[in-house]
Amino acid sequence: MKLLALQNSASYKHPGIFRGHLQFENPGLAGYNWPLCEIRGRKSGPRLCVSAGVHVNEVSAIEAAVRLQRLFDPNEISGCVSIVPLINQPAAYRYSEYVCPSDGKNINFTFPGKPDGTFSEALCDAIMSEWCEDADCYVDLHGGDLRENVSKFTIFQRTHDEELDALGRKMAMCFDAEIVVGLPEVHMEKPGRPPTAFARQNRLAVMSEAGANGLLEEEAVVFHVEGVLNVARSLGILNSPISTFRNDRVVCKDYLWVECPIDGEFHAVIEPGQRVHKGQRLGTIRNYFGELLAAVTSPEAGLLLWRMTHPSISKGSPVLAVAVEE
Ligand SMILES: [Zn+2]
Repeated sequence: MKLLALQNSASYKHPGIFRGHLQFENPGLAGYNWPLCEIRGRKSGPRLCVSAGVHVNEVSAIEAAVRLQRLFDPNEISGCVSIVPLINQPAAYRYSEYVCPSDGKNINFTFPGKPDGTFSEALCDAIMSEWCEDADCYVDLHGGDLRENVSKFTIFQRTHDEELDALGRKMAMCFDAEIVVGLPEVHMEKPGRPPTAFARQNRLAVMSEAGANGLLEEEAVVFHVEGVLNVARSLGILNSPISTFRNDRVVCKDYLWVECPIDGEFHAVIEPGQRVHKGQRLGTIRNYFGELLAAVTSPEAGLLLWRMTHPSISKGSPVLAVAVEE
């Protein structure tokens, strides 16, 4: 990985604040620069990597990654905090929903990627093997693409390794979340989100989600910022006490996507964070004459993770997701 420092930057890997851009070694990623702020303490300690902007409309997460850069003092911290506020560079200023315009893939479900793959696959590989190579923990911030409203939630990966499980859960519980989802082990069998791919390498990663409809929301920004600060406190990078929690942080064991049963207009009768029971009607699909076409029901008892906010939804597209309590 190659680093290009700005004028007001410390030298990379030296105590102080590095500000600049990174370029990955992989020729498949040539031509793109990733903004990087890395705060290195005078005292040694763990390395925490934080990113946002895998989904470029999830702007509260991106704003949190910008604000966090000012909240770590090299004279105070032990270790290092490395922040990339916008991962999906090909989507910058293009407002792409979910995908990377270079290959049409959703980076969030492409980890661990592969060096000889498409742009997104090469990028996921470069994140894991170059930027995060010596990271003790990776946190990826998300939430609230253009047509969705998400609850405040976090994700960790469950594994057969009790120690890694406990660490993942501990970091996910650092956020003042309504819901904390521990993905079931079956997720480890295929490419997926960062927590899954890192766990496959016995490494620690979590995700946080908050926000709605591509809007900057102060409450969502603060959720991400405070959560990352608590992760840094848990790791011993910061020595201030963990902040208090107001939300329930209900720990869940599964993440169920619900597809729209038919083309139509979705009208929800429930909002993210609310409890649902199995079979409960969560909304209806109507046609342009206002006639009822189908009901959307909950596949299990649990809590609503998120729902689509634009009514028009095609058959087979996700309409909402439910977390199942453990
Ligand atoms: Zn996202």
